[in-house]
Amino acid sequence: MTLTADSDARTDLGLAWDHRFAALGPDFFTELRPTPLPSPHWVGTSPSVAQLLGLDEAALHSDEALQAFTGNRLLAGSRPLASVYSGHQFGVWAGQLGDGRAILLGETASGWEVQLKGAGRTPYSRMGDGRAVLRSSIREFLCSEAMHGLGVPTSRALCITGSPGPVRREEIETAAVVTRVARSFVRFGHFEHFAANGQEAALQTLADYVIDRYYPECRDGTGLAGNPYSALLQAVSERTARLMAQWQAVGFCHGVMNTDNMSILGLTIDYGPFQFLDAFVPGHVCNHSDSQGRYAYNRQPNVAYWNLFCLAQALLPLIGDQDLAKQALESYKTVFPEAFMVQMRAKLGLVEASDGDGALIDGILLLLAQNGVDYPIFWRRLSHAVGTQDMEPVRDLFADRAGLDQWLLLYSEHSMHMDLAHQADLMLKTNPKFVLRNHLGEQAIRAAKLGDFGELQTLQRLLERPFDEHPGHDAYAAFPPDWASSIEISCSS
Ligand code: AMP
Ligand code: MG
Repeated sequence: MTLTADSDARTDLGLAWDHRFAALGPDFFTELRPTPLPSPHWVGTSPSVAQLLGLDEAALHSDEALQAFTGNRLLAGSRPLASVYSGHQFGVWAGQLGDGRAILLGETASGWEVQLKGAGRTPYSRMGDGRAVLRSSIREFLCSEAMHGLGVPTSRALCITGSPGPVRREEIETAAVVTRVARSFVRFGHFEHFAANGQEAALQTLADYVIDRYYPECRDGTGLAGNPYSALLQAVSERTARLMAQWQAVGFCHGVMNTDNMSILGLTIDYGPFQFLDAFVPGHVCNHSDSQGRYAYNRQPNVAYWNLFCLAQALLPLIGDQDLAKQALESYKTVFPEAFMVQMRAKLGLVEASDGDGALIDGILLLLAQNGVDYPIFWRRLSHAVGTQDMEPVRDLFADRAGLDQWLLLYSEHSMHMDLAHQADLMLKTNPKFVLRNHLGEQAIRAAKLGDFGELQTLQRLLERPFDEHPGHDAYAAFPPDWASSIEISCSS
């Protein structure tokens, strides 16, 4: 058993590196090594993420990969670091945070940042142990891949490794490391950090880096009075608005929308106490630690705007004009409702916008809430019903049948010019059969704790292609069992 990271890295697993974040300089991070874990083993791998990185099957499943992705051996060419950021947590300025348990191995030559989450303490760990437990790592791994399967922008997950190494939470659990991948892990909180510390040069370096790498169109000088920083704020506002529209449409609650968990690329990142809605309860709070309900499902779009406001304040020294910053931020208020309508029209299989779409959508959301209808099952049943023209399976979901029938009448008027088979086909490609409900994740976790990763693999396979029927797996698309409501997911991870 090796307990010190092997300093003479012998393998690169075929990965080539180009460390662009690291080139920003020491104001932005601390270089360090992951802390090894004893006796690592595989928990899960994602072949599609391996393909993204150009990692072949043999390399992915090698012992070198197991050691490297647990943090026990450095990959040749990697340059591990933990980045510094700050942020607002639950509406309050929290000061410096930083990668407390994430270690960036670097950026591949093909432009993917690769991070180990749970690979030991960093200078930003504060009181934390730098570790992640198996259950939360499985949730992050599965949800990253599930969101990607749903077409929602997200960080990806290459693999999870586990170790018998003990980790103390409410009880003693075991350690795991998720290797996650994104074009960039830069957060709103990175900008807030340098703004709060009055480090304007670093703030500009970071903004220029993000623009040049990820938003080159903001340089072209045509948008927002030729100010690249307000153009950046506008672009991030628009991406975030589209992401929120997708979260709301798919029924995803993030749970901890602190500014340090907001991606500058508009990706879903930092999966913690997230949840996909079972019954449609607009005020649902998925994070057991969120006693005020700040991050309730129906508050997410407003919270995102609040977070963008924090980003705007951080960028203000660069933008140099408050009105310009406000104008950039305002784009959120037009893009979010538009993007939400696009998402909801797609769920209804309506190809063209028409008058009264808003009322149609508001109408069904109100009925779903009043009747406490299961959100994914409603949309999937409606998709089938449009094709078969048998509405009974949909009507069965509602206590208020008269209310639903009225709505169905309105819906059929909206669908009048559509070919129903085509409409149903579109809907079945928009409304997933499989989502990562809490109880499904929990089942995979319980099995994994006993050393059985079959459940995790099955779930992963279903969630990678959530719109396919997957015959023989209807149990994974069924109503949640009664015990699902007693699952408590908190920030403890
Ligand atoms: P979160 O809201 O869970 O994404 O994390 C907020 C902050 O706490 C970030 O700076 C994390 O890196 C840090 N953090 C969370 N858990 C741990 C841990 N177990 N050890 C060290 N830092 C942690
Ligand atoms: Mg975080």
